[in-house]
Amino acid sequence: PDLLLTEWGDSTLLPGLIHAAAAAKIELSLNRDPARRIERARARSYTSYGRILFKESATTLAGRLHVDTENSFIADQCHLDGLWELARITKLPVQYTARTSTGTGISYMQMEIAYRDGTLIPEQKAEPESPKRPDELLRADRGGLVFPPRLGFFENVAELDFVSEYPSIMARFNVSPETVNCACCPEAPRVPELGYHICRKRRGITSRVVERLIEKRQQYKHAVGAIHESSLGAIRESPLHAAEELRESYNLRRSSLKWLLVCCFGYTGYKNARFGKIEAHEAINALAREKLLVAMETAERQGYRVLHALVDSLYVQKAEAAREDFERLAREIEARTGLPMALEAVYRFAVFLPSKQSAEIPVPNRFFCVPEEGGEPKVRGLECRRHDSPPLVVRMQTEALKILAEARDRASYGRKLEEAREVLARYLERIEEGSAPIEEFIISRRLTRPPAGYRQNSATAIVARQLDRAGVKLRPGENVQYIVTDADAVLPDDRARALTLWESWRGYDVAYYQQMLRDAFKPFEYFGRTSRSLAGSSPYARLPSSPRIASTDGLSSGRFFSTTAQTASRSTPK
Ligand SMILES: [Zn+2]
Repeated sequence: PDLLLTEWGDSTLLPGLIHAAAAAKIELSLNRDPARRIERARARSYTSYGRILFKESATTLAGRLHVDTENSFIADQCHLDGLWELARITKLPVQYTARTSTGTGISYMQMEIAYRDGTLIPEQKAEPESPKRPDELLRADRGGLVFPPRLGFFENVAELDFVSEYPSIMARFNVSPETVNCACCPEAPRVPELGYHICRKRRGITSRVVERLIEKRQQYKHAVGAIHESSLGAIRESPLHAAEELRESYNLRRSSLKWLLVCCFGYTGYKNARFGKIEAHEAINALAREKLLVAMETAERQGYRVLHALVDSLYVQKAEAAREDFERLAREIEARTGLPMALEAVYRFAVFLPSKQSAEIPVPNRFFCVPEEGGEPKVRGLECRRHDSPPLVVRMQTEALKILAEARDRASYGRKLEEAREVLARYLERIEEGSAPIEEFIISRRLTRPPAGYRQNSATAIVARQLDRAGVKLRPGENVQYIVTDADAVLPDDRARALTLWESWRGYDVAYYQQMLRDAFKPFEYFGRTSRSLAGSSPYARLPSSPRIASTDGLSSGRFFSTTAQTASRSTPK
């Protein structure tokens, strides 16, 4: 075959086959080219953006392709269509593209442009950061801007998103490592907050890379829209089916390009990036913050209430606004910021939730919204979104949400809540009776260090030690799965049990899992009371147009300032 598509081929299947063939003295030619040997790369743990990750070993072939969908992010997410697309646009070998990070793809696209331009390519690391005073660092190192939500239950809410905001900024404002603080244009307009300037004479390499990606995504979008069953009739037997296939293929290619775009931004500040410069990263962030403030100000000026704003999206509300009004607002913001903005959705209601620790404190990204036309609610920050929650908890929350999503407004929400409580009661009962299979109770956690490296007796640490004693080789970045057997046991080892070592006599901790369920139901209760006393309650009730600011890294949390005052005095590079 030309292509070998496997699951677990890299680490298990192919090495196993090779091993077995050798033991049986059978000749096994996995390579088409007999002169070449099979390439093997070892597994390793590594750190990326502060997270410890685990990379499987790789087995690649000569003369034919081997793609392991369990060891290829892109083949897993965007199938082979996406993989071909990335190999084409980055010009990297397919087997390498399948296994490498998308950041590497970006890096190679940058090098290609630089090479064709005749620009020297740094042999290794990026330019070092220019020296900064502490206050400059503080200003520069803020991440995306986040305005914690107004807590409460809100009807008729729209979500407006800047489309691929960071890449759009790089393309539109020519932000690229070599264009920030260039030597040739000291008089160029300044980036807000930071005072950096951006080159006006040369087009940035990264800007050109993202421009190409944005454009290609756009082309696929148009191509999807231009597919007509009738035009395919002449070439295919089943035009309807062919059209569907083509649409699917274009969409997969589009989303593979999206993954490249997403990491473009991260890569501008990445310490190992060849074309990286932290100032470019900071400039993009600063521009993004400014655009978000402009968007908020525009919305408020037109009588919309801004409920929540985070990084590149905006939740606004106005009682009588129709979809067209929200559309018009998006166009207005586009015109004022120079960045594409889309009306992502109109919600019949949105519920913004406080932190788990305190019902008074709003936290970003913890909410659920139900689309105007019904259907799947948008959920952030709840257990059912997390891959490490026990399936039982995920299912209870999902079922309860499904019922709540039938509500049309605040009054009917109260009634639906009664119905949803029955779901909770049913699950609590199932735990008590022991009628749920043990798989429903599995909790997963990622190891952040080797088993011996844990000092505390967290469940993860206890379980890692159990597995270690049982001879399982664990590396940081790998996942462990366990059951909580007796959370309050005196002996730490009795508190939780690794799933593979769990036996039925150990059972599970009924009270612990019941509490987990109750906690997972709490978000639905906060604003479920039919009295209107809590509607729109917010710690800033007295400061209607001056929300508190907390950036993602928390550096500026706790400061108050008016959005209008901040945006008025800013200059923007044109
Ligand atoms: Zn310049």
